Amino acid sequence: MPTSTDPPAITGVASGGIDRAPSVDCVVVGGGIHGTYLSQRLLEDTTLDRDALVIVDPNDRLLDSFRRKARACGMDSLRSTYVNHLGTDAFALEDFAEGHGREDELRPTVDYPDRPGLALFLDHADHVIESNSLDTLHRQTTATTIHDRPDGGLRVVTDDGVIDTRSCVLAIGHGGRQHLPEWGRSVAGVKHVWGRFDPAADTTETVIIGGGITAAQLAATRSEGESVTLLSRQPLEWEVTEADPQWLNWRHIERELHHHPPASKARFDVVQNARHTATVPPYLYDTLDTRRQSGQLQIRQGEVIQATQESDHVQLTLDDDTRLRPDQVVCATGFASVFDHPFVERLADTLDLARGYRGLPRLDDQTLAWRTVSDGRVPLYVSGALALGTVGPYAPNIPGARRSGDRITAAIDSICKHTMEPMRPAR
Ligand SMILES: Cc1cc2nc3c(=O)[nH]c(=O)nc-3n(C[C@H](O)[C@H](O)[C@H](O)COP(=O)(O)OP(=O)(O)OC[C@H]3O[C@@H](n4cnc5c(N)ncnc54)[C@H](O)[C@@H]3O)c2cc1C
Repeated sequence: MPTSTDPPAITGVASGGIDRAPSVDCVVVGGGIHGTYLSQRLLEDTTLDRDALVIVDPNDRLLDSFRRKARACGMDSLRSTYVNHLGTDAFALEDFAEGHGREDELRPTVDYPDRPGLALFLDHADHVIESNSLDTLHRQTTATTIHDRPDGGLRVVTDDGVIDTRSCVLAIGHGGRQHLPEWGRSVAGVKHVWGRFDPAADTTETVIIGGGITAAQLAATRSEGESVTLLSRQPLEWEVTEADPQWLNWRHIERELHHHPPASKARFDVVQNARHTATVPPYLYDTLDTRRQSGQLQIRQGEVIQATQESDHVQLTLDDDTRLRPDQVVCATGFASVFDHPFVERLADTLDLARGYRGLPRLDDQTLAWRTVSDGRVPLYVSGALALGTVGPYAPNIPGARRSGDRITAAIDSICKHTMEPMRPAR
């Protein structure tokens, strides 16, 4: 017997068509930082019923993708400040730390507010998930495509069947496609940090490729117990935050970004210039410097021009003709673009969604709804890396979830309040 906490069952596709798809108010695709944050905001800030919300994600648990990445690079604190977390109230994490006698896990940052330790951040995230029973809304499956419906709603097709919904939030992050340099693609000992790399594997010498926070964090962690070379194209650059803090302000985003046409090259360029891509936060400096001085860590500038597997080690040739022979090479070289992710391409084709420069989604700047080619409305909202052209340089990060949440929850609340009003004419 179903209880009120059971989300609607997903219905299978019968041979003659789709069989009794359950109907909900919102499907959130993705149970990472953005999907989880958005879900709790929807429950807290809208009239949406909890049994009318489903979170679709293939992982065992909400936030698994974030936990996995943090574990792989050995991250033990966040770069962002204590006001960035999964709760609604900005000071909830600080209150949680005080309430549990864990203020010492708020790490000081020079000239910037404190940052939470990873354990504190995740325990608070679990607290948010448990208090809202968000895990009971999680369906462990992958969304494969989305269709529109004659009543103006959407039909989300998953590996386990279909769900009819009045609205949908896309929170798929970077879509999980890692970027591995061409020279390493067919070499067994060259791994991506979010891919085949096993942090527990027993190695004595590792080369890490990359010049951003993940590469630096990984170098700090691994050089504790083995010899590490950190190889980056440019000298390491130090920045406290992912972008200038003024990009946290929506007025600034409107002023500097929204006056350019949606999904335009101009918007893309503004965001690219504003993001402190491939930079390292200063709190890692002391560890890296100590390890460098003790000889456990080498920091080199250069590029790999060739990699070959030779029995139990990798032979790397650099552009200055240096040869390195590590046990493994770990690439912290980021993700492939989400804008041309096959799932995103499929949605754009099926729903006739408008895209611009390099596949940037053309979103409504007020609601983050994805516009159609004919400038129609679809109740499909976007949060995370896909919303870069509207939310700005912090879009993929935790502060971006809050900026998106403020707008998406208002838009979905309005849909819930007008249950009888069609959202767009049937095709
Ligand atoms: C080591 C590290 C440290 C970081 N530190 C900070 C920090 O201090 N501050 C900060 O703001 N940011 C930080 N970030 C960045 C931040 O973690 C990410 O920006 C954030 O996790 C992105 O969240 P997301 O929900 O958009 O994506 P993800 O966490 O990648 O989640 C996306 C989810 O969508 C699911 N999904 C994808 N496609 C589908 C589909 N078709 N159907 C169903 N589900 C799907 C995936 O399985 C995944 O669970 C850090 C990142 C790393 C790796």
